[in-house]
Amino acid sequence: AIVALLIPASACGASRGGSGESASGGDPSKVTIGISMPEQQLERWQIDGDNLKKQLESYGYKVTLQFADGKTDLQSSQIQNMANQGAKYVVIASIDGTATGAAAEQAAANGAKVIAYDRLIMNTDAVDYYATFSLTDVGKMQGEYIVDKLGVKEGKKGPFNVELMSGSPTDNNAKYYYEGAWSVLEPYFKSGVFKAKSGKVPGSVKDWQSIGIDNWDRQKGQAEMENRINSFYNDGTKLDAVLAPNDAIALGTVNAVEGAGWNYFPIITGQDAEKANVRAIVQGKQSMTVYKDTRKLAKATAAMIKDLVDGKTPKAAGKFNNGNKDVPSQLLTPVSVDKSNIKKELVDSGYISASDAGM
Ligand code: BGC
Repeated sequence: AIVALLIPASACGASRGGSGESASGGDPSKVTIGISMPEQQLERWQIDGDNLKKQLESYGYKVTLQFADGKTDLQSSQIQNMANQGAKYVVIASIDGTATGAAAEQAAANGAKVIAYDRLIMNTDAVDYYATFSLTDVGKMQGEYIVDKLGVKEGKKGPFNVELMSGSPTDNNAKYYYEGAWSVLEPYFKSGVFKAKSGKVPGSVKDWQSIGIDNWDRQKGQAEMENRINSFYNDGTKLDAVLAPNDAIALGTVNAVEGAGWNYFPIITGQDAEKANVRAIVQGKQSMTVYKDTRKLAKATAAMIKDLVDGKTPKAAGKFNNGNKDVPSQLLTPVSVDKSNIKKELVDSGYISASDAGM
């Protein structure tokens, strides 16, 4: 007892957000949780935040949910406030996985368990668990879609013009995403079946940031594609496919193509199954998206926290190295969606209504 009086709980490893009995005294309303989401521009983060909050509240926990408007400083101060107000668990979907480290460290020092949500927190020990979708699978699914639709496995020789983009240079997800995509596309670029007239093909997967679109931003993606189209494809050269990393950038790409006034759309990939994109797929403008059921991610994350509260070890079969340590991780499986399975995957599962899908 004397030791416990002298040593602040936060300095005592075993009790760092430790067993629920000590954290909450068995009273769920004493379990305080802060959720920090990156922004609300993209539908998904709003849905993620709302689902996670609801799920955690259904266990009786006290939850604060904040969105950081895409501003790293704001996100850090929001996390610090959560820590100062005594949050026992902090769930963070980082804007910039490296910049968030210091705030995560402060939360951990205040005795919180830190859970990285969807995006990993980098270069710090202050992250206990990570829940996300298989990041490389997202890229692989997009790459495979392009390969399939261009018929190169059936012997079509091309050469096909395939333009490549990746996600935010500050998001660890974008790196793994691109690794997945490149693992599928590389042989075709090497053999000359695929080429990018812009020349924007990273020499090595390590250079993925050179084709990264800041913040996965729609307008930046659109500007990038307008540049490439104006410089390389406005002389009648066919643009066969665009590896657009997520739905925001896919919409930017659709806008750029519409602006060019062509009578066709290239194959355009995407990620997230945002409503506007599902409609664009139904209309034949975007080709596919990778659906990550955010309801499942919220459930999995809430279950991790409940396990921690109950003194159990959360389900985390995988691990991701964040530069400092291997973070125990739970990886969910994404689903490749195009016109042919929108109804089954998105509408019938209740993710999106038929009218929102424009069906
Ligand atoms: C997420 C994607 C999202 C992107 C932009 C990534 O970290 O995994 O689902 O489209 O961020 O917000």
